[in-house]
This record gives sequence, C-alpha cells and structure tokens, in this order.
Amino acid sequence: MVHEQIVARGVSDQRTLEAMATVPRHLFVDDAMRARAYGDYPLPIAAGQTISQPYIVASMTEALQLKGSERVLEIGTGSGYQAAVLSRLCEQVYTIERINTLLASARKVFDALRYFNIVAKLDDGTMGWPENAPYDAIIVTAGGPEIPQPLIDQLADPGRLIIPVGDQQIQELQLLTKSEGEVRVEVLSSVRFVDLIGQHGWSG
Ligand code: SAM
Repeated sequence: MVHEQIVARGVSDQRTLEAMATVPRHLFVDDAMRARAYGDYPLPIAAGQTISQPYIVASMTEALQLKGSERVLEIGTGSGYQAAVLSRLCEQVYTIERINTLLASARKVFDALRYFNIVAKLDDGTMGWPENAPYDAIIVTAGGPEIPQPLIDQLADPGRLIIPVGDQQIQELQLLTKSEGEVRVEVLSSVRFVDLIGQHGWSG
C-alpha cells in the first residue's frame, strides 16, 4: 500500500510513510471488508460513512508537517484510522465525531492498540473543541461549504488547517496556514468527501 499507492503518487515525508506502514488499517474496517482494507479506494463503514482512500489520508497528513510535539484536532473520527495515523506523529490527538456508533467502535480500536494519546468525543466538530485550544494543526475529514470560523479561531499561530471545501458533490482540499497573525489559504487538489454536518457545515 505505502509504495504502490502513496510513495508512487509523491508523498515523501518519511514520518508519514512510517505511520502509514505501522497502523493496522484492517482493524478499522468491518470484518466483511478486511480483505479489501489495503486497497486503493475508500471503503464504506457504519452509518453510511467512509474510511478515506489511503493516499488521501497520507497526503492530508503530510500537509500538516507534524514533527512530534504538536496537539492536533481532527473533525470526523469515522473509523478512527486517520486519528490513529496522526497519533503516531504528534503528542496528542483530539478527535470529534457526531455519530455515536462510530465513536464507540473507534474508541475500542484505540484501546486495543494502546494508542493512549487520542481523546475522542461526541459533538458537532464544526464548533471545534475550545477547552483544549489552540491546536497546532486541525484536520477536517468531511466536506463543508466553508472553513468553520471556530476552527480558524482555535488554530495556533503558527498553525495549519486542512479541510475539503465545496458543494456536496465535489470539494477543493484547502490548506489554511496561520503565521505571524496572517491567514493564507491554498488549494491542493480536488476531492470528494461525505458531508460535514453541523452549525458551520451542511444541515443534517
Ligand atoms: N477520518 C475518518 C476515518 O479515518 O475513518 C473518515 C471520516 S468520514 C470520511 C467523515 C466523518 O465525519 C463521518 O464519520 C461523519 O459522521 C463525520 N462528521 C460529519 N460532520 C461532522 C461534524 N460536524 N462533527 C463531527 N463529525 C462529523
């Protein structure tokens, strides 16, 4: 998976590649999907949601430029796989999911793997998690109509935030960087994610 799908498409950050090689992706999908867990595509998980394609997980992770000491917020825990990858690359991961069944099964896998630097909660992630802010990096793994202002406010300076923004069919992967009080947004690629639902997202 790492060489054929991820290195081949240009992801080169060694720490990201090692994390992708380390985290057992098959534990984050249903038993019926296990044989396809390392395929070059997203897969369905419970509640009509998806676990993203491995290459997308790797490229979004690489864009955050994590060095090891960061506190990272993820919106959209889903299967828990992206949070697990992040947890190998930074100090602490905070992750928010709005569907309880997904949150419960992700927590079980985090515990089984003894990934103790992940805390997860049930909530509308478009509001962020103000109690633990600011975050050195924020990653949103569902597509919204705009970058939620609470997330921009809760991003540290310097900080990096990555999010799919667009309509409910297709989005731009946007990378927002905050540095010395200035905010810049850069478009990285075109992507297709499930809806970001919430106060600063789509109505559910
Ligand atoms: N990162 C996940 C993984 O590694 O499996 C994939 C996430 S899936 C593409 C998007 C997730 O975002 C879904 O589980 C969905 O329920 C969740 N979601 C959508 N809107 C949300 C919100 N406002 N707050 C928290 N989670 C949300």
